[in-house]
Amino acid sequence: MSKLRILFTYLRFRHRRFSDRQKLEAYQQKKLKKHLAFVTEKSEFYRKYKGHRLKDFPIIDKGIMMENFDTINTVGINKDEALEFAVNAERTREFDDKLKNITVGLSSGTSHSRGAFLVEKTETEKWAGFVLAKFLSHGILGKYRVAFFMRANSNLYQSVGSNNIRFEFYDIYADMDKNIEKLGKNGADILVAQPSALLMIAAAIDKKKIDIHPETVISIAEVLEKEDEERIKKSFGVSVIHQVYQCTEGCLAATCKYGTLHLNEDIVFIEKEYVDEKRFIPIITDFERTSQPIIRYRLNDVLVEKKGKCPCGSSCTALEKIEGREDDIFIFHGDEKEVKIFPDFIRRCILFAGNIRDYRIVQQADESIIIYADVDEQMKEKITSEFKKLAEDDHFELPKIRFEKYIYDKNRKLKRVERTGDVKV
Ligand SMILES: [Zn+2]
Repeated sequence: MSKLRILFTYLRFRHRRFSDRQKLEAYQQKKLKKHLAFVTEKSEFYRKYKGHRLKDFPIIDKGIMMENFDTINTVGINKDEALEFAVNAERTREFDDKLKNITVGLSSGTSHSRGAFLVEKTETEKWAGFVLAKFLSHGILGKYRVAFFMRANSNLYQSVGSNNIRFEFYDIYADMDKNIEKLGKNGADILVAQPSALLMIAAAIDKKKIDIHPETVISIAEVLEKEDEERIKKSFGVSVIHQVYQCTEGCLAATCKYGTLHLNEDIVFIEKEYVDEKRFIPIITDFERTSQPIIRYRLNDVLVEKKGKCPCGSSCTALEKIEGREDDIFIFHGDEKEVKIFPDFIRRCILFAGNIRDYRIVQQADESIIIYADVDEQMKEKITSEFKKLAEDDHFELPKIRFEKYIYDKNRKLKRVERTGDVKV
């Protein structure tokens, strides 16, 4: 990686603060104009929109992106070669290779279609600089040991970095006990991992298997549930669990020092498609992504807006939370039409019933619900009656509920609430 570019991005973001919404919007418009000029010049798909304003561009989603992959991207890579390359990288777990100097990733996501995404090296460096700017508490000259749990960029544990910033990568597909043991030996000032891995590390701390004291704990890749957040905070003895809400489509939100998630409106322009008074689906335009332009791209995530100004003074939209995938909204038979229930309300049926640490609630295609949790008969009854109450309040027919032992496949993202099939009502 080019240290210079990381440093440059770091400086650019470190000292950029938009406390004035109008200034932020003016900045976005300037960046958009320049970016749209680039995209309509370089991308065949967008060529006909030359000179148009953003609102004239089509809203696209993953399906449309993949259908028009060849003409959207600006680096002349076709879909078949990208997919083949990405699948091969996953299979061999060698992620260092590049196709025409471009990193190709596979986004399986939770929805049905498989997608490929392209990221240029310079874009990766900008991303590293951006993260550094957000989370290095003592500036770039401080000394840091960063432990990064991820679908690693190779099978092997890796250690890279400069004199003062050291990155250690842990592959989450490798043996987690060994990873945790190694983490215990290495220690970490900044720990970056998905909630399911953070929970395992927290459990190891509680059992006194390891003794580490990261100053900053950052949650990535999965939805961080409130109760899990509290558990992790307690075990690590920190007051804030930072979050980066990121997907293959870019880095969309990060927490400020008060732990509030803010949309990164200084790098992405976000239109909001409201589904109720505070929940919305983001439609994003990323003015940093050049190899695979992301223009009015509709995600299937539901975000919950936080009203009021954050004490940090940022004018970037504050979020209460990431609710989850739109695909994970439960669907039931109502009196006349289908009734949609957000994951948050499903989750509450468990929380209101009692103190249950590990659970998963899955709705299947036939509408029925499976609850994976290690609970006794009495608790099962309590949970069921919470669901009955919810069905009465929201006027839907409660389908069959079945209880199973708690299982969680660590090769998949941890999701407490999930819909696995297309419910037809
Ligand atoms: Zn804030």
